[in-house]
Amino acid sequence: MTKIMIDPGHGGRDPGACGNGLREKDLNLKLALMVRERLKKYKCDTAMTRSSDVFLSLPDRTKKANTWKANYFISLHVNAGGGAGYEDYIYSGLPDTGHTAKIRSAVHSKVAKVWTDAGRPSRGKKKKNLHVLRETSMPAMLMENSLIDNAEDTRLLKDANFFNRLAEAITAGLAAGLGLQLREVIPSPAPPPKPPTKPPQPKPPTAKPSKYNVADAIRAMQAVVGKVQLSAEEAKHLDANGDGKITVQDAILILQKIVGK
Ligand SMILES: [Zn+2]
Repeated sequence: MTKIMIDPGHGGRDPGACGNGLREKDLNLKLALMVRERLKKYKCDTAMTRSSDVFLSLPDRTKKANTWKANYFISLHVNAGGGAGYEDYIYSGLPDTGHTAKIRSAVHSKVAKVWTDAGRPSRGKKKKNLHVLRETSMPAMLMENSLIDNAEDTRLLKDANFFNRLAEAITAGLAAGLGLQLREVIPSPAPPPKPPTKPPQPKPPTAKPSKYNVADAIRAMQAVVGKVQLSAEEAKHLDANGDGKITVQDAILILQKIVGK
C-alpha cells in the first residue's frame, strides 16, 4: 500500500508567514487534515509529521518520513514576500522528466487549476534545494498555496468553499500522480434473503362435513332400509339445521325416523 507522509509546514513557536489576519501554520495544518481525510477513500496509508500545533524541526520531519518508509512526501506551505498565486517545488537536483517530476506534474495540474479558475496566477512548477525535498529518501514535493501577504490570495484562503476545493484538488492530484485506487465502497448490510417464491398453494379443502341433498340421502337410505315413503313435508322436518343439506346429525335423525316407523 502506498504510504503518504503529509507535512504541514511550521507549527508551535514557528508560525511561518503571517498576514491579513492569518498564520501559515494554521492554514497548513487545516489543509493537511482535510487532505488526509479525503485520502481515506483511496487505498493508501497516510501519516502526518504533525497533526496539531506543535513545533517540529526540518530534520524531525524528514526523519519521520524516512523512518516510516513513506512512498511519497508532500509538504504544505503558504508563501509571503510579494507576488500572487500558487507554485510548487521538487528538489533542484532532479530531472524534469523523472518519477518525482511526473507525480508533481499530476498534483500541479489539479491544484494550479483551482487557483487559476479563481483568478489567481500559477507561478509554475519550480525546483529548489530545500531541506525537506533534499533529505527525504522518497519522491517529495512542497507547495506554496499562494501568498499570505496578498489580500486577494488570502480572500480565497479564508473562503471555506475554496479551501475545500483546494483540499479536493490536492487529493485528486495525489491519487492521479501516485495511481491510487479507490477503496471498495463498504456495502450496506444485505437485506435478508427473500424466501423462494412458491407457486400459490391450493387452499386445503375446508374440513366441512360432506353434505348431500336430504332427498337424495333419504332415497338412498330408503332403498337400503326398504321402508315407507316420506312426504316432502316429513323430509323437510328431518332437515335438522334447516338448510336443505344433510349432516351426520340429519342422517341419524332420518335413519331413526325411517327405522322407527
Ligand atoms: Zn512555509
